[in-house]
Amino acid sequence: MAIIKELKTAIPYRVVPVRFERATTGNPNARRPDIDDRGYVATNPSGIHGPVVGVLKDEEVEIRLRRENISNDASLFITTEDTSVIRIVRPMGQLSGSSTHIVRIRGLDGGNPQGARVKVRFGSAIGPVIHELGVWVWDPVTVNVTPHLVTITSSTDTTGIGSVIDFPAVMRMVNDIWKPAGIVFNFPRTISAAHRMTVNLATAGTVATTADFNQIIQNRWVRNTINVYCVSRFNISGASGLEFLGFGFSTNAYASNGINRPSIFLADSSPSINRDIMYWANDLAHEIGHFLALWHPENVQAPNARADTWSRRNLMHNYNSMFGTSPATGHNYTARIDDVGYGMFNGSARRGCMLCLKDLSQLTEDDQARRARTQAATPATLYGNLTNLGTAPTTP
Ligand SMILES: [Zn+2]
Repeated sequence: MAIIKELKTAIPYRVVPVRFERATTGNPNARRPDIDDRGYVATNPSGIHGPVVGVLKDEEVEIRLRRENISNDASLFITTEDTSVIRIVRPMGQLSGSSTHIVRIRGLDGGNPQGARVKVRFGSAIGPVIHELGVWVWDPVTVNVTPHLVTITSSTDTTGIGSVIDFPAVMRMVNDIWKPAGIVFNFPRTISAAHRMTVNLATAGTVATTADFNQIIQNRWVRNTINVYCVSRFNISGASGLEFLGFGFSTNAYASNGINRPSIFLADSSPSINRDIMYWANDLAHEIGHFLALWHPENVQAPNARADTWSRRNLMHNYNSMFGTSPATGHNYTARIDDVGYGMFNGSARRGCMLCLKDLSQLTEDDQARRARTQAATPATLYGNLTNLGTAPTTP
């Protein structure tokens, strides 16, 4: 008997012989992406059941298959009939007697997306299907991102303080986050003098007012790209004593905030946080998500930010440093678990990097990948159709 779960009562019990899961924990990795495992039925593309994973055309992803309630010596095979869309690179033939298996899949033919099914079969390569994985293969959509590394001087500090961000390293991780949703970012592989600027403000290294944001933007802003300004610190007073590390002023939000151009501002640190690459990348990927027309899960804000696990695992959750399993002061927020698979930072769970592929009918803000790709496909809407300020760097 291959099913090892003993059924002792008449209470309905769901037996899960095998399960697909993200093949890693911690930092995002486009080769081992998160999967959308919310619910079993997915309607679009039609015929796709079970969890879904995204992959770019001509790239490969790895997913872990775990034997959950089936013994290790049960004979299992991984197959697909959609051989024009994907290829199962490994494993070939009957699975080994291990409890977990890495399944490597190559996207062959993309779309928006093109769907394919991976099937786990029992007994032989044509045996009964005991589980399925949906694979969405994307034709990539490209989005331009331009960094501006800002050194801020003052009347008493003429040397100034600049950002220490390793921008190319941060953007490589942003690509790890967004590739499974079919979006690839174009950014400079090296930082040159053309990406640096010096601005004189009241306090060295510090952005404190709306006028400060605008003075930096006035120095240089490039059209047909997302402009990311990196500074050392913010000193912005706000509710709840929050320590701000990032501001996103997307095309539909900048004007109402008194900002002269769509832009993203990132600070290196706050009084209690010194970022690492993951912290920067998760934050920047989230702010870019707002440019790509995504809101926080179900567009609810504090104190009612969603506390369920998929929302906390989602890139677009309200907070990048998650409140724990006890509600925080001023928040109606009690999460069931802390770490959602992306580890801890300074004693708090990190926000996840998952982007929703499915479009669940009970949610109004789902279908994140396709909605973002729709926004990205119209540059005037994405970047704002405005004139350049200052001298643009030669690389996007
Ligand atoms: Zn946000």
